[in-house]
Amino acid sequence: MKSARITGPNEPLVLVETETPHPKDNQVLVKVKAVGVCHSDLHLWEGGYDLGDGKFMKVTDRGVKYPVTPGHEIVGTVEELGNNVKGYSKGDEVLVYPWIGCGVCPACKVENENLCDAPKSLGVFQDGGYSQYSLVPDFKYLAKLNGVDPESATSLACSGLTAYNAIKKSNQNSPEFLVIIGAGGLGLMGVQIAHSITKSKIICVDLDDQKLEIAKKMGADFVFNSKDPDTTQKIISTCNGKGADSVVDFVNAPPTAKMGLAVLRKRGNLVLVGLFGGSMELSLVTIPLKSIIIQGAYTGNYTDMVELLDLARKGTINPMISKRYSLDAANTALEDLKARKIVGRAVINP
Ligand code: NAD
Repeated sequence: MKSARITGPNEPLVLVETETPHPKDNQVLVKVKAVGVCHSDLHLWEGGYDLGDGKFMKVTDRGVKYPVTPGHEIVGTVEELGNNVKGYSKGDEVLVYPWIGCGVCPACKVENENLCDAPKSLGVFQDGGYSQYSLVPDFKYLAKLNGVDPESATSLACSGLTAYNAIKKSNQNSPEFLVIIGAGGLGLMGVQIAHSITKSKIICVDLDDQKLEIAKKMGADFVFNSKDPDTTQKIISTCNGKGADSVVDFVNAPPTAKMGLAVLRKRGNLVLVGLFGGSMELSLVTIPLKSIIIQGAYTGNYTDMVELLDLARKGTINPMISKRYSLDAANTALEDLKARKIVGRAVINP
């Protein structure tokens, strides 16, 4: 089988030909139809995360071992089944849950494998879907598409799943005004999901007017370009002069996190999702005085993914796939994402 692999930070992905594996026991071999190109693949390719103040967290310090095949938004058909697999047959169209955990830590015990202490996520800590085939360790990580468009479904394993989890966290205080920062792959899913599962008025912020126009079509009530120096004040005015009840920051870089805090009203809820990174100073006293909550959100669990597939099946959400690449063009796909040329999501069709 052919796979596009990252051999080291910032090295061009290399196409390699290896023997196609045969599944054993609970394993399933999936023939990849489409794999989403996520900004997290870029962090993996660049070798890590910006911690601010010139510091960098290497992905190898998190347990990534190069060479690795990226790609965690995998959709395909069942090609071959291990002896113990039940409920699936050759040819079934499936979405793969990639956030695989150790199975024994406290998070895994309550089925939050996405928060595992020793994660084994596909496309990060073990080979993923920039490949003609993906070996899924257990059939419990599969979900049948049952009518959902395969390319759109790729987003539901990460960008949709993460947005769903983050919007649910932001909805705990039933926000009248919800600010979504970033209208990229995650943010546009966030807008659609918030529009379908909350009653909030949605305010979306990005640097790119084209993406903001799409956010409006997907359900944002107000949009603002963060290049405008008055954006913070304009958001507060839009929220009846009091500020937003909830903010979800899908960028999470110093300027956006600062804006998120500045527009948050008393008792507000800030959910940080993006991994753009950096660091910022916090005015500590405002946190208790305003009694705000600041929390992180990392992907979502298998049940969230199945709920999201149901929403897609009903047509409540419709992930936007705007570009398609062959496996040979994996480098171009990542370069285009880095250059902000992708609206919504791009997929690779191996
Ligand atoms: P993307 O490249 O598709 O979108 C990023 C968007 O942010 C773009 O529309 C860009 O214009 C906008 N942006 C950048 N700087 C901005 C600023 N200063 N103000 C306003 N908008 C700005 O990326 P994506 O795939 O949506 O991923 C977003 C981030 O979330 C990445 O860092 C990714 O690694 C991370 N991520 C986190 C999780 C998680 O579980 N927490 C999961 C997946 C991805």
